[in-house]
Amino acid sequence: MVHWTPLAFALQNRHSWVQLAGHAGNFQARDGGRLMKRYCVCEEQCLKKLMTDSLRPYVPGYYGVVQKDEQDYNLMDDLLNDFESPSIMDCKMGSRTYLEEELLKARERPRLRKDMYDKMVSVDPAAPTEEERAQQGVLKPRYMQWRETLSSTATLGFRIEGIKKADGTCNTSFKKTKHREQVMKALDDFVDGNVHILKLYLQRLEELCSALEKSHFFKTHEVVGSSLLFVHDASGKASVWMIDFGKTVPLPPPMTLDHRTPWVEGNREDGYLWGLDNLIDILTSMLPQ
Ligand code: ATP
Ligand code: MG
Ligand code: MG
Repeated sequence: MVHWTPLAFALQNRHSWVQLAGHAGNFQARDGGRLMKRYCVCEEQCLKKLMTDSLRPYVPGYYGVVQKDEQDYNLMDDLLNDFESPSIMDCKMGSRTYLEEELLKARERPRLRKDMYDKMVSVDPAAPTEEERAQQGVLKPRYMQWRETLSSTATLGFRIEGIKKADGTCNTSFKKTKHREQVMKALDDFVDGNVHILKLYLQRLEELCSALEKSHFFKTHEVVGSSLLFVHDASGKASVWMIDFGKTVPLPPPMTLDHRTPWVEGNREDGYLWGLDNLIDILTSMLPQ
């Protein structure tokens, strides 16, 4: 019997496709170096627009909607396809990982959530207030905002979701990786102290940063819960792409974002570029002086 490590699985052909986040059932590898992700209209619309945006070189190629067993999927490039036994890291970008509209929705019909209370306690037994403890439940908006303060999301504008290294080790327990030093240690372990790889990642992130600053798509969307996928292998190749546009939504025109201004409810700012600046700064400080 085979035991899969949760959230890291799927051996396909000669490549082993690895998933670092999300529900295991959401993806299926396809021949020809492509991947099917469970359909989401938001993601379809983003990927479509991104194919003609200046961000095109930084996102997986998109090939439209396909069906399998009566389920729709978005068909895109498998970014691991050109690598041999890759090491991969998923960094979720931004200073919050829920949309403003999700917060508004969570406030409608307030309901005490026992499941969220239990999750809270399992991560930090000291987190619930007296009142929440007595009720054995928390309100969803409170839970959503508490969760962002655990990791580096609120303090650095990004968080590590998962790392899988070429040697097979996989770590998806970065929920409490919060401080700069902790993040730096995880990043250093990910690149195994390899300065060449580090420099390639930095160069790519700097290019991405200027592409983002020029992108029409980026200016006109609230980008939440989207990740940077880092991939390198023993051949010395390394690159980064933007993935996961399930919570990337267009702003009502003529509204635009700079992605650096701190979020206050209503301004829709997501802290994406602030997080990218911090990530670039951390990686730069890891280079030998
Ligand atoms: P969540 O919203 O919980 O983050 P999700 O279901 O939206 O999950 P994604 O974040 O898009 O899924 O992807 C989950 C994981 O699958 C990524 O961390 C990455 O490991 C892998 N993955 C996603 N897209 C690609 C791709 N185009 N090529 C290679 N790997 C990918
Ligand atoms: Mg994701
Ligand atoms: Mg997602």
